[in-house]
Amino acid sequence: MAAPRVAVAGGGLAGLAAALELKDLGCEVHLFERSRLLGGRATSFEVDGHVVDNGQHVYLACCTEFVRFVERAGMRDALYLQDRFDVTVYSHGVRSGLRAANLPAPWHLLWPMLPYRHLGFRGKLQLARALFALSREGKIQGDFAQWLRAHGQSEETVRAFWDPFMVPALNAPLEHMRAAEAAFVIQTAFLSDRNAARFGYSTVPLAQIMDAAAAGLTSVRRSTAVSTVDVQADGVHLRTVNGESADFDAVVLALPPRALQRVLPDSERIGLRDLDTYETNAIMDVHLWHDRGRLDFDFCALLDSPVQWIFQKSAGYLCCSLSAAGALVASSTDEVVERIWREVSAALPQLSQARLVRGAATRNPEGTYSARSGTVRPGARTLDRKVAVAGSWTATGWPDTMESAVRSGTAAAIALTEQNAWKTER
Ligand SMILES: Cc1cc2nc3c(=O)[nH]c(=O)nc-3n(C[C@H](O)[C@H](O)[C@H](O)COP(=O)(O)OP(=O)(O)OC[C@H]3O[C@@H](n4cnc5c(N)ncnc54)[C@H](O)[C@@H]3O)c2cc1C
Repeated sequence: MAAPRVAVAGGGLAGLAAALELKDLGCEVHLFERSRLLGGRATSFEVDGHVVDNGQHVYLACCTEFVRFVERAGMRDALYLQDRFDVTVYSHGVRSGLRAANLPAPWHLLWPMLPYRHLGFRGKLQLARALFALSREGKIQGDFAQWLRAHGQSEETVRAFWDPFMVPALNAPLEHMRAAEAAFVIQTAFLSDRNAARFGYSTVPLAQIMDAAAAGLTSVRRSTAVSTVDVQADGVHLRTVNGESADFDAVVLALPPRALQRVLPDSERIGLRDLDTYETNAIMDVHLWHDRGRLDFDFCALLDSPVQWIFQKSAGYLCCSLSAAGALVASSTDEVVERIWREVSAALPQLSQARLVRGAATRNPEGTYSARSGTVRPGARTLDRKVAVAGSWTATGWPDTMESAVRSGTAAAIALTEQNAWKTER
């Protein structure tokens, strides 16, 4: 039997993960991506002669499927991972840190809390109580800010722990964060295993990983948006905005929810509902080049600032990540660079005499998607066996992250293979 011909619409992480899995399952894979770049939100491009990522991306050690994806792309060496959870936190020039102890969770985190200077003793007790409560709680309702208040977390504890760790993890302010999703993150990263929350990131521009992942596919069509997908009795007919069309045995739609609705206007017919009800949350990164060379951290958190994390990408280059950036994404580059430089140079004593050489900003008004209350995230399978759906916003059990994107892509590939009973071999 000839290899099944499968189209993948969308060359973000979800589409690439689906494509890699389908290829390994013996399919002919044709990838269509609207942009000239692969990777979707997790890509890289040039800004003023510097290659920057579309925002700093980190993964945690518990993101096992993302790591497996990078390995499959042959890029394992491009990933850095801490040997233990170890973070530096600055507040108004005061530096303190949290380094996991050799103890079972959650003691691995609570023990190093003792010398943590940004939280008083009472706050530490509050935090310990909340972590133990989260380790026991099953289904939690409501928003996370409410849950924290109900569990006696003071403003100080929110500022010194919950804000810097949870706002970037879920890209939302605590009051817009579902308590159940927050609990999942804490349980997975902090309470399951003392190694799970180790930070990692790519040491090469993300686009290099994405290009490597796409290298072995049958065809990769960049700058080729899919305009419509026509699901027929014996296959799918796909048209692109460039006026081309082709037939496939099946398709993976690895698109953001509204783009999916546009290419498949009768999506409800195959069980895809509420595609216009996802909320988008902005992320912004401010890139700062200064004249002080290398600083003594790889990355650090800032308290009391719109910047949650700063990553030292190379000597003299800091990438500052602003999750839940809200209206800031609409500010002009000059305005936001000046504001963030003021924040960063005031918070880091090493930069008190430094000069800003250059600044840039990358903006993602649609940084992440979250399902509105009442919306059910769809799984990979649809009511039509020839169509599967992927995307970090689908029902993977994870919030909108790289891990969710990869899981969704793999699930979509497996769904197509199983539903079509393709006799494939790994
Ligand atoms: C600035 C920023 C920082 C982030 N930081 C982190 C982080 O630290 N850790 C983490 O885990 N996650 C992070 N994320 C989230 C992460 O990037 C996403 O969860 C993940 O990349 C989503 O992958 P995806 O393939 O599901 O979606 P997308 O990346 O959105 O991919 C969808 C693709 O479909 C393409 N497309 C759209 N319409 C069409 C069409 N008609 N035809 C063909 N192609 C089309 C798009 O161009 C895009 O390439 C961050 C996101 C941003 C924006």
